[in-house]
Amino acid sequence: MALRIVQYNNPVLRTKGEKVNAFDASLAVFANDMIESMHEAGGIGLAAQQVGRALQLCVVDLRESDAEFTWELDGAKPPMDLFMPLVMANPKITIVAGTPETVYEEGCLSFPKIRGDVTRPDAIVATFKDERGVPHVLKCDGLFSRCIQHEVDHLNGVLFIDRMDKKTRGGIEDAVKALAKETKAATKK
Ligand SMILES: [Zn+2]
Repeated sequence: MALRIVQYNNPVLRTKGEKVNAFDASLAVFANDMIESMHEAGGIGLAAQQVGRALQLCVVDLRESDAEFTWELDGAKPPMDLFMPLVMANPKITIVAGTPETVYEEGCLSFPKIRGDVTRPDAIVATFKDERGVPHVLKCDGLFSRCIQHEVDHLNGVLFIDRMDKKTRGGIEDAVKALAKETKAATKK
């Protein structure tokens, strides 16, 4: 069942997620609902906060993307179809030493139609557990890495607009304010 995606500035988007402790059937159902919601919205990543729950859980699916990137999952390079959509619980990111920073125009399902350049380090190593509680180590770069960094930010209540430089942020300020106003009006109903 697809869930409703919450928009800026719903307070849940600013709430740090609680650690996932129970890897049970209800978690699997919730993760599946998140995947369905992400696919329905045409996104490549979705965090639990974006469907109204402050939990350290996000989903990623880059199979439709034509961007170039590399990955290594648990020391191997499995084809994407074998591990995507990817469910990541309690993810932790380490930036690979010496990796360059890259700039890319990001969007976010909680900010419809708003986009802006965000600078992030390229290569990361992410540790996480899947929906069954099995731990994994994922090394990746490019859009894969960027997507995970964006989602892990969500899990900590950080949004992509916080990562934009002043000029970029200023350029979308009116749209961001209008969205916040729209969200507030909708929650009052
Ligand atoms: Zn987002």
